[in-house]
Amino acid sequence: MKKATIKITFLGTCACDFSPKLDKELKDKLDCDARRSSSVLLNDNFLIDCGTHTINSLDILKIDKTKITDLFITHLHSDHYDIDNIKMLAKNHSIPLNLWVREDADIPEILNVNVIKMKSFVRYEVKGAYITSLLANHDQDSFPQHFLIESNDKKIFYGCDGAWILNPTYYYLKDARLDMAILDCTCGDYVGDYRIAEHNTIPMIRQLLPSLKSFGIIDDNTKIYLSHLAPSLHKPHSDTVKIAQEFGAYVAYDGLIQEI
Ligand SMILES: [Zn+2]
Ligand SMILES: [Zn+2]
Repeated sequence: MKKATIKITFLGTCACDFSPKLDKELKDKLDCDARRSSSVLLNDNFLIDCGTHTINSLDILKIDKTKITDLFITHLHSDHYDIDNIKMLAKNHSIPLNLWVREDADIPEILNVNVIKMKSFVRYEVKGAYITSLLANHDQDSFPQHFLIESNDKKIFYGCDGAWILNPTYYYLKDARLDMAILDCTCGDYVGDYRIAEHNTIPMIRQLLPSLKSFGIIDDNTKIYLSHLAPSLHKPHSDTVKIAQEFGAYVAYDGLIQEI
């Protein structure tokens, strides 16, 4: 019997320095060096974040939006949470779209949307999977959270946006031996960036991975994906792929589909 898998579709992998080309020649095309707002789809029905370009990416990839039952919001920055796009997503649903946010986030009423507030470190059962909200080191006014997704004995950590890993989250994930970790990599391979209290740089990730391994959070089989990259702070995608390869990570790009 084939073992059940989780399909992960990267709909967007950008920080918020969007290329003007996305509105013109790349309107209907995905491009590794002109990334769209970061968002992933898990199987057909769980969406993480619905920001600036999420509807556009779903349309380019010809994904059936009506199959999306649950939308998990990492935080309220507009590249992750765009009310107009959420309205558009919920519009054609026969049953209300579940919108999961951190418990203290203030969300206005949206037609055909059912808001569910998540407490940190509570494991929510959602359609046979388990989703846990984890504390994240990012702009606290945006009510940030990271996610642990568990389904079919597989574990995925989604850590965009956020720098490093907060102490309670680190201890919660001890010995988790994740199958996949998707990490914020907003800044490129240099030191001295002022954003280190909200976003990762490549040197930070280089330092983080061996410690995550020694603490059992990841192991040799964990697939590490870098996402939320700012093109203006990185070399071209093909160069970043080579840099990341040296420390055992992959660089996500828009339209990438992985199964674990
Ligand atoms: Zn962001
Ligand atoms: Zn943010």
